[in-house]
Amino acid sequence: MIEIRQVNKSYGIYKALTDIDLTISSGEFFSLLGPSGCGKTTLLRSIAGFEHPSSGEIRIDGEEVSARPPNHRPVNMVFQNYAIFPHLDVADNIAYGLKRLRLDPTEEKRRIGEALEQVRLGPLGKRKSHELSGGQRQRVALARALVLRPKVLLLDEPLSALDKKLREEMQFELRQLQKTVGITFVLVTHDQYEALAMSDRIAVMFDGRIAQVATPKEIYQRPLTRRIAAFLGGMNFLSADIIADQGAELVVRTGKFGEVRMEKPRGFQTEGGRATIGIRPERLRILWEGDTDAHSLSARVINRAYFGEITHLDVAIEGLEHSVTLIETNAFGADDLPVGAEVRLAYDPDGFVLLGDDAAAAR
Ligand code: ATP
Repeated sequence: MIEIRQVNKSYGIYKALTDIDLTISSGEFFSLLGPSGCGKTTLLRSIAGFEHPSSGEIRIDGEEVSARPPNHRPVNMVFQNYAIFPHLDVADNIAYGLKRLRLDPTEEKRRIGEALEQVRLGPLGKRKSHELSGGQRQRVALARALVLRPKVLLLDEPLSALDKKLREEMQFELRQLQKTVGITFVLVTHDQYEALAMSDRIAVMFDGRIAQVATPKEIYQRPLTRRIAAFLGGMNFLSADIIADQGAELVVRTGKFGEVRMEKPRGFQTEGGRATIGIRPERLRILWEGDTDAHSLSARVINRAYFGEITHLDVAIEGLEHSVTLIETNAFGADDLPVGAEVRLAYDPDGFVLLGDDAAAAR
């Protein structure tokens, strides 16, 4: 549905986008995820036609769109700040964009009704903006974009103004809505949980470049580099000795964790005899009395943070320079472990991931 080829965008000497190549399929919920200033909004606005790439090609539904203004592209955009008109009621806000289509009044009314139903605002057509909650206002903005039946809906941080609970509800709703209408959604967000929860695929961006494109699970579990791993969530980074380099695989040793065989990520280069590997905190667990596990080692609790249903524990392991963090549910008493407690730690060898060098990946 969207093909982006070698897109670059410069503002004077500043390069906001470098060599962007991306293909987004029809019906896909695709997220552009990255920290502030990484270029995700510039890329979204280039698809919309509000920005013009300095070079490269953008095709939407098979057609090169460079020469087309935003209102002649088969896309519509939902902005962060809703941008709904305060003096118009909900139905008139939705009708606004339809006016230029000059539909007959019955068809216009039918389309507005359909859009109201899609965003679950059925009975609220006559309400004014100030009579709506933040979530309802955001739904009006969505309905106003959907009523024009775009092939692609572009969403620029659409949930960032909502409080945490409402944001989580709307994430679920937005995902459901995308499934119902079946069109391509491209979402810009700096919130990794939002991207993980909603997307079919995610492109992680840093410094104007795409660092990795993958499904949520793959990008979380198999990040290509240390920076991607850290941006997606907690990760324990460990330095490992390379024991054997066997083409697609590497065997490494990390202190008491022993030898681990790992798949080399795309573009991975070994430098010297050492590698950085990572393991997510939930891939480590405490062995309680009576539990056994083929992969376990001794550790000592040095810090803990209680979060209600889970506890984060920092543990020291002999022979490792830095402590490692693990996340335990509190169902078995992790919240009662005192600092200083000696524990057995089990780990999942499949949870280790080999991490590439960020600087090399950006070249
Ligand atoms: P945020 O989440 O903060 O919106 P972003 O990842 O969406 O960040 P962009 O808005 O795409 O980032 O901006 C990318 C870079 O380009 C930033 O460093 C920004 O300052 C710069 N930039 C964006 N628009 C312009 C402009 N019109 N002129 C000059 N620089 C710009």
